[in-house]
Amino acid sequence: MTRSPAVLALDVGGTSMKGAVVTRDGRPVHVDRWPTLPAEDTVRAIVGHLRALSLVARDLDVEVVAAGVVTPGMIDEATGTVVYASNLDWRDLPLRALLTEATGLPVATGHDVRTAGLAEQLLGAARGVDDFALVTIGTGVAAALVTDGRPVTGAGGAAGEIGHIPMVPGGEACTCGQFGCLEVYVSGAGLARRYAARSGRSLPAEDVVARLGADPDADVVWAEAMAVLAQGLVTATLLLDPTTIVLGGGFTAAGEALLGPVRTQLAAGLAWRPAPPVRVAELGSEAGWIGAAAMALRSAGLGDALRTWDRQAFTATTTP
Ligand SMILES: [Zn+2]
Repeated sequence: MTRSPAVLALDVGGTSMKGAVVTRDGRPVHVDRWPTLPAEDTVRAIVGHLRALSLVARDLDVEVVAAGVVTPGMIDEATGTVVYASNLDWRDLPLRALLTEATGLPVATGHDVRTAGLAEQLLGAARGVDDFALVTIGTGVAAALVTDGRPVTGAGGAAGEIGHIPMVPGGEACTCGQFGCLEVYVSGAGLARRYAARSGRSLPAEDVVARLGADPDADVVWAEAMAVLAQGLVTATLLLDPTTIVLGGGFTAAGEALLGPVRTQLAAGLAWRPAPPVRVAELGSEAGWIGAAAMALRSAGLGDALRTWDRQAFTATTTP
């Protein structure tokens, strides 16, 4: 009997990496995670994790046909080069070539948020939707833009940087060198920094959110964040005319404190057209590796199998 084809998937984040072995028919037969090592060791660690996943696959009696690896940053998808990734400290890193050479596997590389968009489109909040924006709000803010069923990458792989759209003229300085960027106000890092500046207390963003309704300083910086986010979504809506907007990332833990003001202010900011529905991403922090697996399968010429993938098989192994 021939062994069932499978792919390796790896989501390389700034603080942790998530890996999986996924069969062609969409069963994640193994899921793992590791802390991300300092920049000088990151590529070596990625190679090590892919080799470890290969060994697991062999023990599980599946045949690895390709790997998919997703990272943050500006990715030249044609060449598989990471042009720039600030939180991994990479510049012009020929990632796909390095990993193909080191593993002997065909390797597909991609952008983490764009790939999460692919996963949400296949199995999550954008299932069956051809025009949508997935906006992930974590430490920073980035978007996957899908129009007519296809992800928008831009000329240099830099499309979707909604976090660095200047929303507040003459606003606060951003780490990117601009002023008044959306993520200065809306991201986890921005919220924590602005809360500390206002209250004199240093708290992580999730603690600021937990104080909403009980701490006037938290309420003020949150309200300012919601106003800037809604304005950013007004801009995205007018540019793209999406069927739906999907919000992902750590901020979604705020629930109605996020969705309520965003929906109201998005609608209020659009005078002559209806606002698209705003939904919360369904695959959470698992979307990156799920999308990486889908990308690897496509690169191996087995993309047709994605039509048979079922959300249920992934829910069993994923965490909320
Ligand atoms: Zn910026």
